[in-house]
Amino acid sequence: MTDTAATGNNFIRDKIQRQIDAGELRGSEVQLRFPPEPNGYLHIGHAKSICLNFGLAEHFGGKCNLRFDDTNPAKEDLEYVDSIQDDIHWLGFDWSGEIHYASGYFDTLYDYALHMIDNGDAYVDSLSPDEAREYRGTLTEPGKNSPYRDRSPTENRQLFEAMRSGELEEGSCALRAKIDMASPNMNMRDPIMYRIRKVPHHQTGDKWCIYPSYDFTHGQSDALEGVTHSLCTLEFEDHRPLYEWFLTKLPVPAQPQQTEFGRLNINYTVTSKRKLRLLVDQGHVAGWDDPRLSTITGMRRRGYTPAALGNFCEAIGVGRSDGVVDMSMLEHAVRGDLDKNAPRAMCVLDPLKVIITNYPADQSEEFIAAGHPNRDDLPSRTLPFSRELYIEQDDFREEANKKFKRMVIGKKVRLRNGYVLLAESCVKDTVGNIVEVHCSYDADTLGNDPADGVKPKGVIHWVDAKAGKRATVRLYDRLFNDPTPDRGEGEYLDKLNPESLRVVENCWIEPSLADAAPEDRFQFERTGYFVADKLDHSADKPVFNRTIGLRDSWASQGSA
Ligand code: ATP
Ligand code: MG
Repeated sequence: MTDTAATGNNFIRDKIQRQIDAGELRGSEVQLRFPPEPNGYLHIGHAKSICLNFGLAEHFGGKCNLRFDDTNPAKEDLEYVDSIQDDIHWLGFDWSGEIHYASGYFDTLYDYALHMIDNGDAYVDSLSPDEAREYRGTLTEPGKNSPYRDRSPTENRQLFEAMRSGELEEGSCALRAKIDMASPNMNMRDPIMYRIRKVPHHQTGDKWCIYPSYDFTHGQSDALEGVTHSLCTLEFEDHRPLYEWFLTKLPVPAQPQQTEFGRLNINYTVTSKRKLRLLVDQGHVAGWDDPRLSTITGMRRRGYTPAALGNFCEAIGVGRSDGVVDMSMLEHAVRGDLDKNAPRAMCVLDPLKVIITNYPADQSEEFIAAGHPNRDDLPSRTLPFSRELYIEQDDFREEANKKFKRMVIGKKVRLRNGYVLLAESCVKDTVGNIVEVHCSYDADTLGNDPADGVKPKGVIHWVDAKAGKRATVRLYDRLFNDPTPDRGEGEYLDKLNPESLRVVENCWIEPSLADAAPEDRFQFERTGYFVADKLDHSADKPVFNRTIGLRDSWASQGSA
């Protein structure tokens, strides 16, 4: 998989800079907007658009609006209006002034429609939706004029007012722009401006039973907000002539300039609200905030950081072609940020009891460990230590060759931040599973090598059995095991990775971890990056989500 979009360049930033250099506008006059439709939760693709729009406003000292492009009340919901605001704030951005709604312009758009009717630029068409489709032609054949195309402005006005008053049925007619049914650009073949839809709207209630189309709304909304640069993804390139046509026909206060950029796609995931919704609705994941989803709220719950997403969006750049970015690039950004900023801690995922036979049963002590190897500003931790502890099952073998640098009977191993132990024997249950290891410790090895000069080869993590706390850990992996779940052969729902979630109960964490606040992130030493779950974690019942492993375990088996 090639990182076709991974350039770090941003041609839109360069273009605006050139305009400023040429004296065409000042940085403070740059006006952008982020225009989501509130019909689902935002995903990583939207993060790119948010970082682009809000980022450019910050860069040039301009402004960026948040506008809900809410022209389709049947699919929209206040839940999404709220979640979108949360996501933008979490990413570290804020919009200028009040939130805008395309629905806030419905009165103006209605007047604009009347203006076009009066000028002979729009007509009420009474073809049925099926007939209209037939009249529209195809990519290779021109369309045909509707028999209703030459209605007089007076008749059109009466009919449009009747559409608005609710007298006419859904589908019985529509208001269309009068452009060119033979245009090679299908968007210019008398596009629909208004439809009758007898559904209430989350912002305007029952006020309207006709709604403007996206095409008749978007450009005018930009103009009404004084947007200078209207940025959208490439699929809207063919809509630009229409957008500009409307602006020349209407008494709008500004002439926004549309620039298209490449959509972000990432392998091993889907970035479409519709497809994400299906995963949620069919119960393949636990909700829109499931840590396996590429939704912003899901990535947040997974433990990704706003800085990591920002760095990733900067690294992939903004270009003029759609690209597929390798998931490992996103993960690299996450690891990079967490490595720098996440405090270290110890957690044993698959516990094996160790008893230190020469350590008195009634004794205990505390070690002080660094919060981070090169961040003195992060507080140090206190690690209680006593006769019994837990280590990973995986870190012990009765016998092993030299490559195994962990705990082996007859060999020395160092406890991370603690003593050197010598494993002496192990206890097995009736079926031969190892259930306990007996060791001795060397009291002179705290921070020192053993006096006999024989240094332990490895260091293992551990948790004190008396003071440690139990925790639940959710091990997340990629949701799909196919690099292109929504392309190529088969259905994306059939390409789900059955091992994308493993819940491990009864892990052991060092005691201070129980006091973590929800959303605190850590590196569990030797294990990976983890976050205290936003909703389920508490001191009584600690729950951590694995954000990502320490290394890219997919590099060898993953992308072809
Ligand atoms: P979806 O197909 O997932 O529903 P959309 O484009 O319909 O996405 P909108 O709510 O209309 O979603 O998008 C708001 C803004 O985010 C638009 O400007 C859109 O171009 C941009 N955007 C959406 N998806 C991506 C993506 N994958 N990469 C970059 N920008 C995106
Ligand atoms: Mg959409």
